[in-house]
Amino acid sequence: MASAKYDYVIVGGGSAGSAIANRLSADPTTQVLVLEAGIADHRWDPIITMPAALGFPVGNRRYDWCYATEPEPHMQNRRMRQPRGKILGGSSSINGMMYHRGHPADFDQWAAETGEPGWDYAHVLPYFQRHEHVLTADPEGIRGHAGPQILEPAEARGPLFDAFFAAASQAGHRVTTSINDHIQEGVAPAERMIHNGRRLSASRAYLAPIRARTNLEVRCGVQVGRVIMEGARAVGVSFRQGSGGEERVFAGEVVLCGGTMGTPHLLQLSGIGPADVLERVGVRVVLGLPAVGENLEDHLAVHMQHRCTKPVSLLAMRKKYRWPGFAAQWLLTGTGPGASNHQEATSFYRSDETQDRPDIMMSFAALAMRSEEGAQVDGHGYQLHVGVMRTEARGSVHLRSANPAVHPAIRCNYLSGASDRDRWVRGIAIARDLLGQPAFAELDGGEVLPGPRVVEPDEVMAWISRAAQTGLHPSGTARMGRGENSVVDPRDMRVHGTSGLRVVDASAMPSLTNGNTYAPTMALAEKAADLILGNTPLPPVDVPGRASRPSVAVPTE
Ligand SMILES: Cc1cc2nc3c(=O)[nH]c(=O)nc-3n(C[C@H](O)[C@H](O)[C@H](O)COP(=O)(O)OP(=O)(O)OC[C@H]3O[C@@H](n4cnc5c(N)ncnc54)[C@H](O)[C@@H]3O)c2cc1C
Repeated sequence: MASAKYDYVIVGGGSAGSAIANRLSADPTTQVLVLEAGIADHRWDPIITMPAALGFPVGNRRYDWCYATEPEPHMQNRRMRQPRGKILGGSSSINGMMYHRGHPADFDQWAAETGEPGWDYAHVLPYFQRHEHVLTADPEGIRGHAGPQILEPAEARGPLFDAFFAAASQAGHRVTTSINDHIQEGVAPAERMIHNGRRLSASRAYLAPIRARTNLEVRCGVQVGRVIMEGARAVGVSFRQGSGGEERVFAGEVVLCGGTMGTPHLLQLSGIGPADVLERVGVRVVLGLPAVGENLEDHLAVHMQHRCTKPVSLLAMRKKYRWPGFAAQWLLTGTGPGASNHQEATSFYRSDETQDRPDIMMSFAALAMRSEEGAQVDGHGYQLHVGVMRTEARGSVHLRSANPAVHPAIRCNYLSGASDRDRWVRGIAIARDLLGQPAFAELDGGEVLPGPRVVEPDEVMAWISRAAQTGLHPSGTARMGRGENSVVDPRDMRVHGTSGLRVVDASAMPSLTNGNTYAPTMALAEKAADLILGNTPLPPVDVPGRASRPSVAVPTE
């Protein structure tokens, strides 16, 4: 075996990769190398640091891998955009900055699905706490107050937010201070990965403060093309930097943090995956592992928009001549419209009483943003971003070529879940009920999207299939678990059948959580760091009212 220069090489300096790099390099005698395909995340680049600029990096190849799906059969055969961050910090450098832990039952489900009690809510909660530094009220005493990820609450003030909270109350929904407590259901001001008016990405939270560590090397612009295997053991990676030739680096362990698209792509390029998929493109099978690239799960989302009768929305944000003023204010003071992501209220609902936890997510903005559809609110307006959680739809990420530069074929199979249709129809009805409450009476200038002609369930579904976009939460393509339908051992994040090869990112989620996926990815990474280092995991947090939760049956391997 070639001599290893590093103890760990981490592929992908994204969200999970930043956290793992920080934790693994805490011991100064451990040598860690991070290889990131994208650019460095410069502090002075407003495209990634100014929260209101959140739309700009998306679809821009300088920051985004710009993946697209194959034609989606239930979405009018559209090839749908699948943005992923290609920059230090990964998707956390280009995401919407909304912070959702997920529902406690999501993690109990992880434990049940993996057969590993250590992934239930009580055991994952201390890792959320280790990650967080909340500036929100913490009435239940279950938040983190000293972690690297500072989280600021949105102000969510003004006539439109006042109307939204009042309407929620009128419609009988719970209005609360945070949806990140034990009870997720309800309507609350958003918590965001923003600090002092700037995006606080994973790389800013976890890597920037430890830049002085001499045992940690971070290289950007390096796309890893293959994991070097000696038999079943990973010994290093091969990569290219810019237009240079192939280089190799050897390490005691390889930790893949390439994300839901990047990680299964790299495993398959390395000969680890479903034999038929690899053979079709001429990649030699090193280890047949059928679940690599399968179980892709994503949320789907639409925007509903209304005209506003009064000049109380953030319409000014859409006026280009106002941008220099906003940018100057933001630069000098870290305040003003530039300092917000504008989705300042967030909420969870159950599509009907049979759901054991919320399955509809909505975020409210006091601004009708540029729409993917032709129809658009010209003047003042407001919008609800609506998504359905927990679909049964599953897709895949498959090699299309043995050339690492060719994007894999991505199929999400949106709307193929058995209950998707009914729950989407009910979700849109809940949204309309909310926006139709008396609290909005004086502000409502009429629904523009989907519009008054979209009424019957078939019409609603036709609109969803025409207009909906990715909810931006793909996961599960290297899921933890035991048995054929999994890739990663939930006890130590090792790829089944290998040694020296681990996966830590959103691809390892056994199932998609209720809400946005940054927070659960980071809690997963925090816990994975302890598993990799062999540390005693943090003790479970005693969760009031949940002591009687049935214990997890652990299947044998
Ligand atoms: C536009 C957008 C908006 C979103 N909005 C929100 C939100 O508001 N709130 C929220 O909670 N979540 C949001 N998400 C989702 C969330 O950001 C992701 O789930 C999370 O960041 C995923 O983390 P990860 O570590 O799995 O992957 P990433 O953070 O994507 O990191 C993967 C990294 O690996 C690198 N990489 C991949 N392949 C290679 C290779 N072969 N060689 C070297 N490097 C490689 C990538 O360049 C990237 O830096 C959003 C995502 C996007 C794209």
